[in-house]
Amino acid sequence: MNVDRSAAAFERARTVTPGGVNSPVRAFLAVGGTPRFIRQAKGAYLTDVDGNEYVDLVCSWGPMLLGHAHPEVLSAVADAAQRGTSFGAPTEAEVELAAEIIDRTPVDQVRLVNSGTEATLSAIRLARGFTGRDKIIKFAGCYHGHVDSLLASAGSGVATLGIPGTPGVTAGTTADTIVVAYNDREAVREAFATFGEQIACLITEAAPGNMGVIEPGTRDGIGFNRFLADICHEHGALFISDEVMTGFRVSRSGQYGLDGIGGDLMTFGKVMGGGFPAAAFGGRADIMAHLAPVGSVYQAGTLSGNPVATAAGLATLRLATEDVYQTVDKAAEQLKAEVHAALDKAGVPHLVSGSGNLFSVFFVAEGVTAVPDYAAAQAQSVEAYKAFFHSMLDDGVYLPPSAFEGWFLSAAHDSAALDRIVAALPRAAEAAAQSAQHD
Ligand SMILES: *Cc1c(COP(=O)(O)O)cnc(C)c1O
Repeated sequence: MNVDRSAAAFERARTVTPGGVNSPVRAFLAVGGTPRFIRQAKGAYLTDVDGNEYVDLVCSWGPMLLGHAHPEVLSAVADAAQRGTSFGAPTEAEVELAAEIIDRTPVDQVRLVNSGTEATLSAIRLARGFTGRDKIIKFAGCYHGHVDSLLASAGSGVATLGIPGTPGVTAGTTADTIVVAYNDREAVREAFATFGEQIACLITEAAPGNMGVIEPGTRDGIGFNRFLADICHEHGALFISDEVMTGFRVSRSGQYGLDGIGGDLMTFGKVMGGGFPAAAFGGRADIMAHLAPVGSVYQAGTLSGNPVATAAGLATLRLATEDVYQTVDKAAEQLKAEVHAALDKAGVPHLVSGSGNLFSVFFVAEGVTAVPDYAAAQAQSVEAYKAFFHSMLDDGVYLPPSAFEGWFLSAAHDSAALDRIVAALPRAAEAAAQSAQHD
């Protein structure tokens, strides 16, 4: 596969921007090799600047639920752009987009913002303003955007205060962040027992998708999200369900549509922007009433509710009917089964893990039957994934360039696209098997 032009673009890019990319995972550091510079995309396919075509299993990390360059979304975008691209004044379409989100989820009101990061940081500020408390709980391995207070790593011990996860975040900022292991109910209980009256909120991904995809576990018939919502309420804390990735993707109503547990506050992004920068946070009316200009918690944005992004999001959500979800679910079921079969045949230990149509493949050690948290996810063989990834890429399938990301399908992944993926699996499974022998 010729990638000369991508290689040249990458070299030039590195001179003008750190690492040559505008978001780290795009640099292929976790898998090595040349990041593909994309020229165009249509339906289920990406074409790079060298003219290589790939079946896309990243889908812009989730937004492209309908596939790339959907004609009706493009025409909504063109119509909106013709009427002007930003006003700094309200539009009717923003109201429609808010209403569409409210119709699909348990939130009473929403505020539109420009990125998932902005949605989670605003939700946390609102939770602190509403409760008058400072501390927050998050889970190790859950990603909520690059919000300072959420870029915290777990300290040692079960429920400890966070330490900064990156230079540039102060110890003071993460001192109010408590980091616990996902699916660890005892650690959550201990955090509330220790800091109960000081905890403003607990934030979780509705189903974690940023450490590979991990299922919220069920114990004694009680799902993890139900447990979290209940324990928050027992202690007067707010439950924030981050559905930036799962929202409007794993079902019409996101993870809420699968387990029926909503947050007091919820965050959305990705699919609801239809490939443009749009996101939202929302929740109970009495909480949202604390937000400016009604209440005193400040939050604002020059481009929030941007008319072009709003048009793309609204068109996407209106086109995302039950049949779209059935199509994506069916494609995901088929692909999971094929991946499982190919890896089994090659004798590669693995676990296909997911929630609804969102899933990932963990190359776990022999005998491992569950990946409940970040520590378990980190124990997988990234070497096996690397070998698997590059074989697939060479055969025209663009997987996430990291073992810690979900695989994303779209309604445009028809049988022809799936056949191409399936055809590439045996060689990739063999490559993963070979890498294991070298470990
Ligand atoms: C992607 C993501 C975010 C951050 O969204 P950006 O638009 O990249 O800022 C937040 N939370 C979750 C769960 C995400 O997957």
